[in-house]
Amino acid sequence: CGIVGYVGHNQAYPYLINGLKKLEYRGYDSAGIALHKGSELQVVKKSGKVAALENAFGTLDTHSTLGIGHTRWATHGIPSDYNAHPHYSNSGNLALVHNGIIENYASIKEELLHKGYTFQSETDSEVLLNFIEDIHINNECTLEEAIRVALKRVTGAYVILILSKDHPDTLFAARKGSPLVIGIGNGEHFLGSDASPMLEYTKEVVYINDYELAIINPDQLILKNLGNEILTPYVQKLDIELAAIE
Ligand code: GLU
Repeated sequence: CGIVGYVGHNQAYPYLINGLKKLEYRGYDSAGIALHKGSELQVVKKSGKVAALENAFGTLDTHSTLGIGHTRWATHGIPSDYNAHPHYSNSGNLALVHNGIIENYASIKEELLHKGYTFQSETDSEVLLNFIEDIHINNECTLEEAIRVALKRVTGAYVILILSKDHPDTLFAARKGSPLVIGIGNGEHFLGSDASPMLEYTKEVVYINDYELAIINPDQLILKNLGNEILTPYVQKLDIELAAIE
């Protein structure tokens, strides 16, 4: 339902947790955050309020400059801790948050089950992540290429954000049919399913279009279509009043 992401030189966690609070108005049943911790991806997720997620982090070390967060409005699988996002891939190398619905997830899940994949949740989202992982591993292509191949095969609506253990300063983001905004800061990027989480940090934003994939580093935003052509991001000045009521 709501999505946030951060990549930069500051700590990701404060932006992510406060951003999720700003998105609470959209309604949700659970919340979660994944942080890139060098040798591991740390996922903490909880059904219930963002405050419960904050409690679950408790005294955990939140030092990380790359992370993603999610508030879930369940469509596939009951509201629960295990169905909450982010989801890990089978290898544990990838973590994903997803807004929307993957309509053809059942047939893809069937394929993956045959290949020996296991699932920790009932969500369509975890299926998409393992589909990407499977293409990445078996086609020996880059993660970026695997995301493009997978997205050309899925139907439905999505915003996805993906973290990879192998990419300590890169966030991968794509959308179709659900909104995604990227705020441009000074050596940092703020992501949101609307602009409300980033209002206090930047006035410069890029609205991502359908079938676009963004590869985002602290200092660089590379935008491509699913055909791997590089696009020029269209940077807009945020109209604060408009953004607030969006
Ligand atoms: N379809 C996904 C799920 O049920 C995402 C729902 C959402 O947009 O929050 O977990």
